[in-house]
Amino acid sequence: MASLLDNWKRTHFTKNINTNLVDEEIIVMGWVHEIRDLGGIVFVVIRDRNGRIQITAPSKKIDSKILEQIRGFRKESVVAIKGKVQNSDKAPKGVEIIPNEIKVLNEANQPLPMDPTDKVKAEIDTRLDNRFIDLRRDNISSIFKIKSQMLHSTRIFFEENGFIEVNTPKLVASATEGGTELFPITYFEREAFLGQSPQLYKQMMMAAGFERIFEIAQIFRAEEHDTLRHLNETISIDMESSFMTDLDVMDILEKLINKVLVDVIENCQEELNILNVDLKPSQCPFPVVTYDKAVNIINSKDVEMEWGEDLSRAAEKILGEEYPNYYFLTEWPSEIKPFYVMPNEKDPTKSHAFDLMYGNLEISSGAMRIHQHDLLKEKIVEKGLNPNSFESYLKSFDYGMPPHSGWGLGADRFNMTLTGLNNIRETVLFPRDRKRLTP
Ligand code: ATP
Ligand code: MG
Repeated sequence: MASLLDNWKRTHFTKNINTNLVDEEIIVMGWVHEIRDLGGIVFVVIRDRNGRIQITAPSKKIDSKILEQIRGFRKESVVAIKGKVQNSDKAPKGVEIIPNEIKVLNEANQPLPMDPTDKVKAEIDTRLDNRFIDLRRDNISSIFKIKSQMLHSTRIFFEENGFIEVNTPKLVASATEGGTELFPITYFEREAFLGQSPQLYKQMMMAAGFERIFEIAQIFRAEEHDTLRHLNETISIDMESSFMTDLDVMDILEKLINKVLVDVIENCQEELNILNVDLKPSQCPFPVVTYDKAVNIINSKDVEMEWGEDLSRAAEKILGEEYPNYYFLTEWPSEIKPFYVMPNEKDPTKSHAFDLMYGNLEISSGAMRIHQHDLLKEKIVEKGLNPNSFESYLKSFDYGMPPHSGWGLGADRFNMTLTGLNNIRETVLFPRDRKRLTP
């Protein structure tokens, strides 16, 4: 039996119910979190978005019809309760509600597919299969409140620094960086792909004279690997700025990270406590480790790595032991960075590319870009790509392209560093990995 709201309006979130409201009649709405029937008295805990309140029904004082309704409550049903606030020594918040009228707005079937009260631990797959229930738990919803703050602070930061938010297409005709990490789709009579990065469009926006842009959007990577830090759909925070070098945009990245840390610490203390995370502002400036130095550190710890190789997982772990917080890795070999990365003028085997790491986790990659058409075309060919598929991109370099730099910051990986989680699936509402496409 499901009732309608009729003319009932919620008067208070449970969080805002306190002793100031004693004797007032209020209406709360939420989920039946817990029921304890002691015979002479029934206790029910109602949960809403960010709190709980105890409903107390002593059988002698309460209308028998209401008592019957309460005794019929099922866990996780959605109910509305009209009642009087009353002082209580035993209730967790010092107040409880004595119900006068009740509506069961929707009943929850039993048994529940998973326990939302954390009493029974569920495997991650069970949790993700039943994500709408999993997300009812405080420790899980906290992750997303922190993420919301992170994205909010990011937008404020960019706005304060003169950046314009843009939206670039996610249906694209060809690969951003070449390679095979693309999801092909059918686009009418042609093949197209899901965008793996807004890179080429960000650069074209520099030719468009926007000078400072950012985008927060989905990127799609058809990577087969099944790790704790890769998903096939993830959110990237991307920026690009004209007349700036790699060092300038590293500075912006560092400032953004710190603003987010400060804001999360200030505004999400409750969520951090629930997650047991003692978040601290980061020490600035972040350490800068050159690729050469990183190779030396890694080799000195008995993990073999040749100059010119990308970091293996074992190599990242060694660096993470040495640098457990945020740090930059700079002066990467040109060979292992994308074609649009500016080579070092003095030694073109090295580049103006950098990564931002947090311990052993890469969270951002960026670089000063090539802004000269001919050099760019040369690099495309060098990487074994066909310049014809980059025609409309290359064109924008021929008619007034300023020098520019930028980076992409993985929002879900960044959120892992804020919430202390080691599985990226935890930080995404409905993650997409090698095996999971639903819900
Ligand atoms: P990795 O080497 O860890 O696979 P990448 O170097 O391929 O990452 P970039 O192309 O540099 O990734 O993308 C920029 C940022 O976007 C990364 O630093 C990371 O934070 C995030 N990112 C990239 N791919 C993924 C993914 N599959 N899942 C989650 N985040 C990702
Ligand atoms: Mg990278």
